[in-house]
Amino acid sequence: VKQVAFAVVSPHRDDAALSLGSLLRRLGRRHVRFRILNCFTVSDFAPYHSGLTTEQVTRLRRREDRCFGRLLGRSVSWRSLHGVDAPLRRGADVDIFRAPFDVTESNALARRIEAAAGADLLLVPLAIGRHIDHLVARRAAGSLRSTHAIAFFEDIPYAGTTAETDIRQTIDDAAAETKRILKPLTIASRNAVAEKDAIARIYRSQIAAEELEEVERAARRLGGERLWADDVAFARLTALLGGA
Ligand SMILES: [Zn+2]
Repeated sequence: VKQVAFAVVSPHRDDAALSLGSLLRRLGRRHVRFRILNCFTVSDFAPYHSGLTTEQVTRLRRREDRCFGRLLGRSVSWRSLHGVDAPLRRGADVDIFRAPFDVTESNALARRIEAAAGADLLLVPLAIGRHIDHLVARRAAGSLRSTHAIAFFEDIPYAGTTAETDIRQTIDDAAAETKRILKPLTIASRNAVAEKDAIARIYRSQIAAEELEEVERAARRLGGERLWADDVAFARLTALLGGA
């Protein structure tokens, strides 16, 4: 049963907002219904709030999400998939950008995404920068390619600090994994930097000056946000945006 137009696979609570905030706000104004699937919500990662327990951090990050949700009105519904994020799952000394990929993790996540999506169109992180949780999310969602249309999105802030050749390689990898030809879909916005900045500032437990600068750099480079969509996803998203 199709309950929503699409589901965003958000590795962490801030990824959908940071990477797709402009698109989601635009669709919110058009009353399109969509769902955000937060994958790894059990977290003690809050670099700008020290001395909190895992429970407190998990709650704090949920509050930040709710605050972003107010910008989306009734368009959005949320699902937490209750995954444990990399520093807790793999150990505090894990290098989250080099940790080896483990297919049992993505298989487990794929089943939860499938059960919670409520749609056969998925918006999926490219895992630019190769954060292990983003990579697990990409591979999990990609494994649903026979039943779901897919649009990959460029991960912000990482797209602001990653070389263009590495980004191209990541897009090629995602295309090969899903056996799809991916077309770029840019969500252009004249005030992209200010718009992203306002959204990023909601996530104070994750974002300070350094990250803000990376978010702004990504927004400037893209002139907004960019997705790489298969044919079906491209047609559907374009229609939802009003045929732009
Ligand atoms: Zn993330």
